[in-house]
Amino acid sequence: MSCGTVVTQAQMVADLQAGHDSTANMRGLFFPVNCLGKKLSITAYIVRDSLGNDGITQAIIQAAVLAMNGDFAPMCLSFEICRFVYIDNYNYNRFVAPKHEDEVYNLYYTPNTINMYFVSRLEKPAGVQKCGYAYFPGGRDMIVLQKSCANDGKSMSHEMGHFFGLYHTFETANGVELINGTNCTTAGDLICDTPADPGGVNGPDCQLQPYIKDNNGNWYVPQIGNIMSYYSASCKCGFTTQQFNRMIQQFTNNRNYLW
Ligand SMILES: [Zn+2]
Repeated sequence: MSCGTVVTQAQMVADLQAGHDSTANMRGLFFPVNCLGKKLSITAYIVRDSLGNDGITQAIIQAAVLAMNGDFAPMCLSFEICRFVYIDNYNYNRFVAPKHEDEVYNLYYTPNTINMYFVSRLEKPAGVQKCGYAYFPGGRDMIVLQKSCANDGKSMSHEMGHFFGLYHTFETANGVELINGTNCTTAGDLICDTPADPGGVNGPDCQLQPYIKDNNGNWYVPQIGNIMSYYSASCKCGFTTQQFNRMIQQFTNNRNYLW
């Protein structure tokens, strides 16, 4: 199942603008990997169903956070759950975005923490089921995850990647990235050490299946294991150096108020 985080035009424009206007390039391409040395707090909200069932245990969520911490360890960033909150309004357990979001945001939101909501069914938009979605830096400090995806080994880290400013490796909102790398700073995910990704499908061997060419006739060799791709969670490896650099940059500029 896919992810519901969508790049808005405003987000892209702001991003490219910042990249052009400042020596502190928002794309993070020219920054060495350094160490944030931060542990951030997550407020975990579990929405109960109409019978009062949780649908997910605290232990499962803790395990997912522990696994996510492994993915973020290279940039010295980790997460801990500061509080579990149970939401007894089952209407939000079938969470339809954006319809339910403002209500939930107004009723259940802890400033300066990463507000993570666990629901049985996430639709964004109505009728289209998704594993999760997040806000890019500058947006709300919230991530919504479908309970069934929470501990799949990828979805939580994937949404956290968006939360810290990463785009999908197959993003086309700003143009299609070419395999030869010539437009990697301005198209696709704006990151050059993630090869062009057609957003295809992988086989059981974690290879692209079928193989596809780009408009120049070159064969795609995407990073099937990249967390910001849509390939199988079982193929997952991690983030790249430049993805870490970008997240450090985005955290420092836009999310450094988090505790
Ligand atoms: Zn996504």
